[in-house]
Amino acid sequence: MRALRLTAWGEPPTQAEVERPAPRGGEALVRVEATGLCHSDLHVMGAVPGALPYRLPFTLGHEVAGRIAALGPDAEGLRTGDRVVLYGPWGCGACDRCATGRDNYCDRRDTLAWHGVGLGRDGGMAEYVLVPSTRHLVPIDDLPADQAAPLSDAGLTSYHAVAGLRHALGEGTSAAVIGVGGLGHLAVQILRATTGSRVLAVDVREDALALADRSGADFGTLVRADTAHALRARTGGAGVDAVLDFVGTTQTLELAAGVLRPGGELAVVGSGGGRLTVSKPGVLPPGFRLSLPFWGTRPELAEVVALARSGAIHVETERFPLSAAPEAIDRLRRGRVRGRAVLVP
Ligand code: NAD
Ligand code: ZN
Ligand code: ZN
Repeated sequence: MRALRLTAWGEPPTQAEVERPAPRGGEALVRVEATGLCHSDLHVMGAVPGALPYRLPFTLGHEVAGRIAALGPDAEGLRTGDRVVLYGPWGCGACDRCATGRDNYCDRRDTLAWHGVGLGRDGGMAEYVLVPSTRHLVPIDDLPADQAAPLSDAGLTSYHAVAGLRHALGEGTSAAVIGVGGLGHLAVQILRATTGSRVLAVDVREDALALADRSGADFGTLVRADTAHALRARTGGAGVDAVLDFVGTTQTLELAAGVLRPGGELAVVGSGGGRLTVSKPGVLPPGFRLSLPFWGTRPELAEVVALARSGAIHVETERFPLSAAPEAIDRLRRGRVRGRAVLVP
């Protein structure tokens, strides 16, 4: 089968012909219908040797939807032919986090070291993907695959980040979303659908602000010298209750800290490598809280799928055949993708 493989750190992935896996034990083989291309894929491809604990080569693709093609003899709960989305963080399966569907915070992440589908283990940028257990599969019924695939990271990570802020949000509050790309445009919709907060969007691209507007944001602004002022003005001067930063550079972290009101909360999702200094006394608002949400839980993925099926959230996608992955990667790198790029094998 065809697969897009990462074979060397810092090099573009290569199209390869690999053997189609056969499911054993409790495994499932999924015929891929669509796989999202995430900005994290760019971080992974561009990593310097030794930075990530993965062994090369492996097939990329951690946002995957498709149809179960075959099941191992011990696989339970689902049937061949079922359409599913993959829960991507594959934890040890034995710790209390994994037992409660929180593989994203598996206690043994040091040994399993960030392994997930397409992250050290063969992923979904291929015709088929082997899944270690049916517990990593969430049924999608007739949800289109290009909608379902991005839910497993862009949707789930955004949903989990918003869930962590929920105590700070609600009617009469405001939330800012920095970076309205694959994740951010879903965060805007999830904030609208689940919190009642006013949503303020920030990006460096006009077309991303147009996407924020279509996604239901109340206000959008480009990053400029007076962005903090513009955001504060939208809150009557008080500042915002929560910021979701999908960029994570020093510039965006400082912008976020600068627009929060006392007791405000910052969730850093973007892997931009920026730094924010914590000191007391210092410039951070009193009561400032910080979280570093990572991916999401299995029950949350089922909730995101339900939201999408209800029509409350919609992924804006650009489709590419798997053979055009280099073009999709290049467009994402240059900030030219609207919403999520989805690869179809
Ligand atoms: P994306 O490229 O689709 O979107 C990024 C958006 O940020 C774009 O619209 C871009 O124009 C905008 N942007 C870039 N620089 C900016 C700046 N200085 N100020 C404001 N906006 C800016 O990326 P994505 O796939 O949505 O991923 C976003 C980030 O989240 C990446 O760093 C990715 O690695 C990370 N991520 C983290 C997790 C997690 O679990 N924590 C999961 C998935 C992705
Ligand atoms: Zn991702
Ligand atoms: Zn575990």
